[in-house]
Amino acid sequence: MKLVAGNWKMFKGPAETVAFLDELEPPAGVEIVVCPAFASLAVAVGRGLPVYAQNVHWAEQGAFTGEVSAPMLRELGVEGAIVGHSERRQLFAETDETVRMRCAAALEAGLRVIACVGETEAEREAGETDAVLRRQVAAIPRHDALVIAYEPVWAIGTGKTATPELAQQAHETIKELHDTRVLYGGSVKPENAAELLTQPAVDGALVGGASLEPESFAAICRAAT
Ligand code: PEP
Repeated sequence: MKLVAGNWKMFKGPAETVAFLDELEPPAGVEIVVCPAFASLAVAVGRGLPVYAQNVHWAEQGAFTGEVSAPMLRELGVEGAIVGHSERRQLFAETDETVRMRCAAALEAGLRVIACVGETEAEREAGETDAVLRRQVAAIPRHDALVIAYEPVWAIGTGKTATPELAQQAHETIKELHDTRVLYGGSVKPENAAELLTQPAVDGALVGGASLEPESFAAICRAAT
């Protein structure tokens, strides 16, 4: 079964989160998770879909202002977390090492993990895609409760989507390095979801912008069935 995760980024407070989940008609035959902002996690839990956070710290507790720990998420009923999203890597100085630590702590605490990897446009143009993926994937722990999301940075929120062939190729590379399911992320929309999701090495999608409207998210989920 394919997995489709909606990453709401810093959108939707609690009221909008409840409204979205009340309106969404999730199809059968696909695993669906939503990833609201920290402030909206509590109201999202218990409304029919697994809820993941968008980040998680490696320590159980401590002097880490602004961070949230895996046991805190578990206590809320959150089932997993995204780790290493390119926005965290690019805007908040996330490194391969912090990604490794966050993944390990989350898994240890019993959370599922969507660990993100992907090259920037400059890295692709310099022919470094393979080396970047190898370096990033090497930092990700092996675990049954972990999936990788391949998200080429140049395709996130830009409207530029990887071609199905390019996605397939990158997923094959990742799967050679790490025996896990690999989701594709980067401007997935109802119009392009089917062609991406029918690639044999594409095990699902991590969806940003198009996951914010119930009908567009449901359409992508239907494309994965
Ligand atoms: C994302 O946030 O993981 C993402 C892929 O965003 P978008 O679908 O908007 O490109």
